[in-house]
Amino acid sequence: MSNAAWWERAVKVLPGGVNSPVRSFKSVPGDPLFFRKAAGSRFTDEDGDSYIDWCLSWGPLILGHADPDVHAAAAAAMAEGASFGAPSRREVLLAEAFLGRLPHFDQVRFVSSGTEAVMSAVRLARGFTGRDVIVKFTGCYHGHADHLLVDAGSGLATFGTPSSGGVPAGFTATTAVLPLDDVEGLREFFAVHGKEIAAVIVEPFPANSGLLIQRPEFMQACRDLTREHGALLIFDEVITGFRVAAGGAAEVLGITPDMGTYGKIIGGGFPVGAYATSEEIMSHISPLGPVYQAGTLSGNPVAMAAGLATLEKTGRPGFYEDLERKGALLQDGLTRAASDAGVTATVVRQGSLFWTVFQDTAPRSFTAIDPAGMETYGRLHRALIERGVYLAPSGWEVGFVSAAHSDEDIAATVAAVAETFRSWS
Ligand SMILES: *Cc1c(COP(=O)(O)O)cnc(C)c1O
Repeated sequence: MSNAAWWERAVKVLPGGVNSPVRSFKSVPGDPLFFRKAAGSRFTDEDGDSYIDWCLSWGPLILGHADPDVHAAAAAAMAEGASFGAPSRREVLLAEAFLGRLPHFDQVRFVSSGTEAVMSAVRLARGFTGRDVIVKFTGCYHGHADHLLVDAGSGLATFGTPSSGGVPAGFTATTAVLPLDDVEGLREFFAVHGKEIAAVIVEPFPANSGLLIQRPEFMQACRDLTREHGALLIFDEVITGFRVAAGGAAEVLGITPDMGTYGKIIGGGFPVGAYATSEEIMSHISPLGPVYQAGTLSGNPVAMAAGLATLEKTGRPGFYEDLERKGALLQDGLTRAASDAGVTATVVRQGSLFWTVFQDTAPRSFTAIDPAGMETYGRLHRALIERGVYLAPSGWEVGFVSAAHSDEDIAATVAAVAETFRSWS
């Protein structure tokens, strides 16, 4: 059956034809493709067409699709039982591997998604500090928990809604939203509300409204002000964890947060999230303390095995250096393709995260993004699908380079983009 035939059936039984809104083609031309199988840097749809994939399940697949070692580990775990609902050794092994990479944390709790990780971390931050207010920044996405669905970027930016229906005003009354890149604004907010603030949560490299790389002063201000006022700093590393460096953004920035939230890569393509902090703060979570958080499938052995195999491979010497080299190759190629064709574009990159924005400087805040570029992105997206290259179906989303992308994949992608840009002039 073709992509089109599956799509026709899907829209009847799934709202909008999808199980996550970012998969729909609301902001690019055409209908979503249906994928049948994948390996390495490529996946193949129901029409039998194969694509170089730069979306890679939105970040988890840092080793590429269907990595043989990850799959072997998951299959071996599954042969011993899919779920126990009781402690099992792979939870300990993944926790040890995780904390080995992130020595600034003492303990980790595994959950089943990034949303759950952030929701739980915020609850723990409030329980620990005895304060209610959470500070977040416009354009940062922290999952779809009610109280964080305010000015949250990506899927929401795509739909042009600043917030979500179904969220009572009272639920977000203790969520303060401030702009990124505004140290003075943050300082003023702390001067007035410092004693009420439980935590500041931030994506250390905001990657859910494009890629809004911050000036070092801004992240340092988040660290200094929270410390001064007895609030916690939470780095939401669901995208950046194990992506921008072996030790995530905390390592790159040289800033140690009080708590970290994780997802995506840590499950190697299976549903895993995690939050980590000090032993002191963690002593407030159940069963040790009064802050409740639980999960039927938390620490699922198959997902733990996949995460463990993924961390093991990303921990090999030269892994992140190779990703950095490939990221730079792609960035240079795309930048040249744009300038050669006279297309105004900036390719923003942090390691293996990249974003093409159709303006002449890299924005640092949500309002600095020119929304007019999104239509240009839609045209690029369509043209690349026709040339066997798959990007995320929204100009607000970043792209992901994996270990499975070859120099040939990069060259083929750059050639397809160059051909597209030339056809516009
Ligand atoms: C993807 C993401 C989340 C949500 O994770 P899910 O697994 O989709 O629930 C939270 N925070 C950030 C920074 C993310 O990129």
